[in-house]
Amino acid sequence: MTSSNGQTGQYDLVIIGSGPGGYIAAVRANQLGLKTAIVERESLGGVCLNWGCIPSKALLRSAEVLSLFQHAKDFGITVSGVQADYGAAIERCNTIIDRQTKGVGFLMKKNKVDVYRGTARLESPQQVVVEGPDGTQTISTRNVMIATGSRVRLVPGMSPEQVDGKKIITSKEVWQLRDQPKSVIIIGGGPIGVEFATVYRSYGSEVTIVEMLPRLVPLEDEEISSTLTREFKKRGINIMTSTKVLNINNGAENEPVSVQVEANGGQKQTIQAERVLLGIGFAPNSENLGLEKLGVNIQRGFIQIDDNMQTNVPGIYAIGDVTGKLALAHVASAQGVVAAEAIAGHKPYRLDYNKMPRCTYSHPNIASIGLTEAQCKEQGIEVKVGKFLFNPNGKAQAMGEASGFVKIVTDAKYGQVLGAHMIGPEVVELIGEFSVTMTMEGTKEELALSVHPHPTLSEVLAEAALAVDGESLNA
Ligand code: FAD
Repeated sequence: MTSSNGQTGQYDLVIIGSGPGGYIAAVRANQLGLKTAIVERESLGGVCLNWGCIPSKALLRSAEVLSLFQHAKDFGITVSGVQADYGAAIERCNTIIDRQTKGVGFLMKKNKVDVYRGTARLESPQQVVVEGPDGTQTISTRNVMIATGSRVRLVPGMSPEQVDGKKIITSKEVWQLRDQPKSVIIIGGGPIGVEFATVYRSYGSEVTIVEMLPRLVPLEDEEISSTLTREFKKRGINIMTSTKVLNINNGAENEPVSVQVEANGGQKQTIQAERVLLGIGFAPNSENLGLEKLGVNIQRGFIQIDDNMQTNVPGIYAIGDVTGKLALAHVASAQGVVAAEAIAGHKPYRLDYNKMPRCTYSHPNIASIGLTEAQCKEQGIEVKVGKFLFNPNGKAQAMGEASGFVKIVTDAKYGQVLGAHMIGPEVVELIGEFSVTMTMEGTKEELALSVHPHPTLSEVLAEAALAVDGESLNA
């Protein structure tokens, strides 16, 4: 077996996995003059492009357009006969997946990265064995980068066969199903769960979210969880928090799926739906790679790395979801760049995982970065907090999307921005401003003094910065 361009031989770097971690690392490695190969067992682009970030945002966009039609009257437009075709929306997602994955193939070619199709494992730190459709081949390399990502975690006690791709699905199967369920139970109230709840509810499905912890999006600021809960309830989404799933029964062919749940107080009940979507988190793909026998330090499945993304075994690097830092595409890519630079002998920028933006594309959007007020308290950091609502903002009113807020957490003494927490219109686009501010160790004054264009949603960021000292102008 040879690579896509017919080459074999000695590489500076072989990357296992072509998700946003692996393929970006490959591009950077080539830019730095490293002879690079990438191995992929499925489609190029990883979870992110094939069934994660991109298709989910495409489907959310269809849901958003549908919502706009449903609320056209609010904008002075009478629309009749609106018909939503969920299957056509799924087809659109698949067209986008196809285009994006082909784009990664093009990027690899353009950057002279050899692509090997098959499943890889390590024979030694310098030897990667690839089992592909055409047989088995050993590739020699100076360095290896593990970028194998993660897979959806099953509910404890469930067998993998229960995920039949029809009645019980994960985010991987969504893109094969053209029928929209009449009712759906979503297990997990984190970012994936609330994004799919947004989609299904917009299409008119009866949606129930079951979350074990006391609130939706439990890693976010508490006020964000309560605002999302209020907005979801207004839209008719049924929310069961502090509720544990005891077991799931697929049911017979034409029967609904039954989910037995137990609330915190011990009350048990069985709920039913046409479909169940699992969204409780991710398990790292660190098995069957030959890492244990090479002595690579793995804790609870996650590969342990240093600041340069190197494992305890010289020449073996790991990036992305499999490292268990933050399961986000842009974090995987940033790690990939650092690792490629370290392998090329550069002194890379040290990543600060606390300064990574985290976005949830539910309606309303959620975006955050850095520490919450509660986390600062726990760490004994004295803070001052500023909050400003979207409601008085002219652009938000014009858009008809005026619920939500921006909250800024600043260091009490110097005003340095330590965190930002937002829920509301387009906040996933606004969080980049906080990313830059925090990377530059900026303060609330710098944020407030930077003139923000009018009318834009970004004005709310400056108002929140002013609110830290009670000096907001439009409240
Ligand atoms: P992956 O993207 O998981 O890619 C790993 C690749 O390695 C896969 O293609 C796999 O086939 C391959 N592989 C594994 N083992 C082997 C082997 N032995 N040999 C060869 N190939 C192998 N993140 C965001 O930042 N923003 C979002 O909006 C977002 N939305 C999401 C929505 C959903 C529904 C899901 C499921 C995830 C979402 N994520 C989002 C998370 C994001 O997809 C992941 O964090 C990201 O894909 C991780 O990138 P990675 O490079 O570590 O691995």
